[in-house]
Amino acid sequence: MSDPDRRVADDWALQPDYLPTRPAPYLVWPPQPVEAVKYTLKNHLSFNDRTLYIALAVVVAFWLQPVDSGQTTLAAGWIVWLLARNVVLAGVIIGGLHWWFYMRCGQGDERRWDTRPLGRNKRRFAFDDQVKDNMAYTMLSGIPIASAWEVWARWMFANEYVSTADLGTNPVWFVLAFLAMPIWQSLHFYVIHRAMHHESIYQAVHAVHHRNVNVGPWSGLSMHPVEHLVYFSTLAIVVVVPLHPAHVLFLLFWQMLGAPSSHSGYEGIVVNGKMVLSVDGYFHQMHHRYVRCNYGSAEFPLDYWLGTAHDGTDTGAARLKAHHN
Ligand SMILES: [Zn+2]
Ligand SMILES: [Zn+2]
Repeated sequence: MSDPDRRVADDWALQPDYLPTRPAPYLVWPPQPVEAVKYTLKNHLSFNDRTLYIALAVVVAFWLQPVDSGQTTLAAGWIVWLLARNVVLAGVIIGGLHWWFYMRCGQGDERRWDTRPLGRNKRRFAFDDQVKDNMAYTMLSGIPIASAWEVWARWMFANEYVSTADLGTNPVWFVLAFLAMPIWQSLHFYVIHRAMHHESIYQAVHAVHHRNVNVGPWSGLSMHPVEHLVYFSTLAIVVVVPLHPAHVLFLLFWQMLGAPSSHSGYEGIVVNGKMVLSVDGYFHQMHHRYVRCNYGSAEFPLDYWLGTAHDGTDTGAARLKAHHN
């Protein structure tokens, strides 16, 4: 008799140890306050991509390039510096991940989900090469459009068109807002991503991203420019909720650098047999493989509420099939 929780292992070189996938324990019923606290502490008191991007956001917002009165006007000086910083960050982080996993082959196929090579001599990619094509979309469209959103948010702050939350006047919200950013991003991502799968938009826009069936770090921002514009529109939250520029920068880095790291194709960076940095993007990698599932991410459980979650098991696959029929 077959085991209904058998992993759909035949499709994958590796599956995570924790299957079936679950949403973060924030918006679940019955409430799981202890689990929610544990999850929050685990994600914020260890070295991982999230804490790295929070630290980076704080450094940029408080020391490297704070919002100041010079940003009340759209002058070339500060905008070029901001763009250059984002280009360098993308080059170092996305390029660094690609170098480690796919050029130096630092850990071979260890902790890799799908061991098929990235696309070469494939005509669906520019230059017939998946990596070069993905780099072009990232650097010529993704980073400039992400930077444009950052410019807009800074200009809004500098002109005091939006209210600011700062550490001195509201320390509790200042801390909680860092926790809230990925939850907001997850909700936004599900909504825009599901809309992108509507047939009227898919072929014209989102199909660009889905040319990547197997993925690497440069695939994360390999999107049509219209999708870049919508994907980074999360930053418009500044109009609704009082935030500090550090929160906005974290949100930006979470998406601009986090999408590439979660598309790495690996569970994490392993050095000398030890996982030194988790970049687990398995839930989204299933979306690239199976397409009509997993539109969001773990932080906001819309996939689980709306029946579009593939949890990595045969049971999950069968539930999803029933949902579509
Ligand atoms: Zn999609
Ligand atoms: Zn993707």
